[in-house]
Amino acid sequence: MQKISQSSNNKTFLLYIFIAYTFSILIRLIWVYQFQDNPNFYWNNHLMINTNDGYAYAEGARDMLAGFHQDNDLSYYGTALSSVTYLLAKILPFSFETIILYMPAFFGSLLVIPVMLIARVLKEDILGLIAGLITGIVWSYYNRTMTGYYDTDMLTIVLPTFVLYALILNIKEERNRYLLLIPIFIIAYSWWYAQSYSLNLAMAFMVLIYTVIFEREKLFNYKILIFMFIAMSYFPWTYKILASLALFVAFHFVKHSNSKRVVFTLLLVAFALILLTGGLNPILYQIKGYIFREAIAGDLDFNLHFFGVTQTVREAGQIPFEVFADRISGHTLTFFLSITGYALLAFRYRIMLLALPMLGLGFLAYQGGLRFTVYAVPVMALGMAYFIIYTASMLEKFIHKDRALSITKKAYISIFTLLVLYPNILHVIQYKVPTVFSKQEVEILDKLHKIADREDYVLSWWDYGYPIRYYADVKTLIDGGKHSGKDNFPVSFALTSPPMAAANMSRLDVEYTERSFKEKFNSNLIQEMKDYNSTDVNKFLSSLFSSDFNPPKPTRDIYFYLPMRMLNIFPTVALFSNINLLTGKQIQRPFFYSTSSFKDDGGVLYLGNGIVLDKRKGLIRLGKQEVPLAQFITVGYDEKGVLRKGVQNIQMMGQLSLIFMKSYNQFLLLDNRMLNSLYIQLFVLENYDKDLFELVIDSPHAKVYKLKR
Ligand code: MG
Repeated sequence: MQKISQSSNNKTFLLYIFIAYTFSILIRLIWVYQFQDNPNFYWNNHLMINTNDGYAYAEGARDMLAGFHQDNDLSYYGTALSSVTYLLAKILPFSFETIILYMPAFFGSLLVIPVMLIARVLKEDILGLIAGLITGIVWSYYNRTMTGYYDTDMLTIVLPTFVLYALILNIKEERNRYLLLIPIFIIAYSWWYAQSYSLNLAMAFMVLIYTVIFEREKLFNYKILIFMFIAMSYFPWTYKILASLALFVAFHFVKHSNSKRVVFTLLLVAFALILLTGGLNPILYQIKGYIFREAIAGDLDFNLHFFGVTQTVREAGQIPFEVFADRISGHTLTFFLSITGYALLAFRYRIMLLALPMLGLGFLAYQGGLRFTVYAVPVMALGMAYFIIYTASMLEKFIHKDRALSITKKAYISIFTLLVLYPNILHVIQYKVPTVFSKQEVEILDKLHKIADREDYVLSWWDYGYPIRYYADVKTLIDGGKHSGKDNFPVSFALTSPPMAAANMSRLDVEYTERSFKEKFNSNLIQEMKDYNSTDVNKFLSSLFSSDFNPPKPTRDIYFYLPMRMLNIFPTVALFSNINLLTGKQIQRPFFYSTSSFKDDGGVLYLGNGIVLDKRKGLIRLGKQEVPLAQFITVGYDEKGVLRKGVQNIQMMGQLSLIFMKSYNQFLLLDNRMLNSLYIQLFVLENYDKDLFELVIDSPHAKVYKLKR
């Protein structure tokens, strides 16, 4: 069949890249356009970022710009993304906020380049242009590289696609100088993304299979493997670059080094380097993990059973096929056409089989969770583009006039491409992700920044850890990267226990966390029990409820950041300490219900979900069950911004209380345990012992208290 998408000159090719890259960026400005008038999303006159983890890298970059950070502050100082950000902030004339906001758009859109370069190796530039237009804005890829999505995702697909390009280029062209691209991209990819190793290994394996099946006799392919293995070994990158350069010089200038014997010896040496530097450890470790899991758990003589985070995160199990297909291609139909196109493409250019590891990793998402879908995006875009080109060339059978054929083909390709882009653009328009924090919340953290010392701790739920550290420059106990059951337990315990127990637990956990950086405790709680001569964890925890408990000497201040938004996740927060640590079993779940949609019928208040308050009898009906109401509490801010409370005692033996948060138009129905918790007492009701806590920032969005002992 005649080829219709040919190789153009360099100028045209650069123009194509410019078109696809600009298109990808322009689409990413839709989100900016949609939110530009919403003052809640601005801080310091800049739109804020919309991904929680981004604040970790932003904190790292901020600290690098400052030139220092605190010991054990968990700052991402020196990580790849923070370093690149730091560099850009140094050389670009834009503000730090602008840089982190737009970096994902400009970096993520770079994906169009390796995709188009791959097509150029095949001498199919129009194919490349179509694939470039598609790949930059496909659903899941957009979601993870949109403006404001400041995270490593902005290059985690770009870099392996460059690796794939380097492999395809080398196998196709067989020129020694191209070999150097392999270590450059692999080293960059491993630096950027620590978990890159498995995909690199899979690609090396693919090169090997491809060579054995199709090109056994081609010595050059083994050179490719040598360069890959060197780049993947665990030596400092400078050594790897020097070794690669030396090899290049040898292959290029010393004829003798291109003999079979030398190449295979080098291949063995390179593979040995991988083995020696523990290159296969990640794989062995996983196998070990499966086999010896029981034994490892049994090793500890004293084992507490904390709650697993995976139990609350949406199960990583199967996702509906349609969602899977939409994420990869924007539409189920496109998905199937793309697969067909990829099969045709690999049939026409078998070198494209090298893309199978990336495609496979993307398809793993069907079993292993949505986050993998992005890996399939560039390969599927090439497949889709080929399908369009391929079917366009079939028009030749029907139209015989050259001019008419050319016009029809162009129209066909354009319309088809637009149809593929359409659902993806629609998704972009509908995908209105809010910023992580609102302006009002950041104002609070900014105030806190001025009050708190950098060594002080702020206790809050892990969801707010990174932004708290970024805006207030303090330390936190848990964050988006540190939130195992063990880490969450003390914080959950503090937030859901009465203020006295919360105060004791926070002081304990902060001081032991700091000590643990040096003394490396297996578990803070176990160490605390040792130091307090306790052998029964439940007894130890109950001792914290008493004012007689003697907490460790404070080395720093502790603040509690209690935001309104935590109300929605409070039952989840409670899960982590609502557990018998000896057995790992959940204890009876506390009752907590909140709603802002209700109907008052005079004598009866409907709270939704079959929950009804009978005002005359002072009873709460939960379906068929009737529970006496203990208290009815109204809280709300008056015109002066002062919190006013009204408490009505209903029944002595009541088990549930109803709180009406007037200023938020929200009802809370909760049992005594939740009512007495730190969060409800301090945030909702502002009931606190002035000797124990001090309210330092008061706002309807969040309250900050300082622990006074
Ligand atoms: Mg700091």
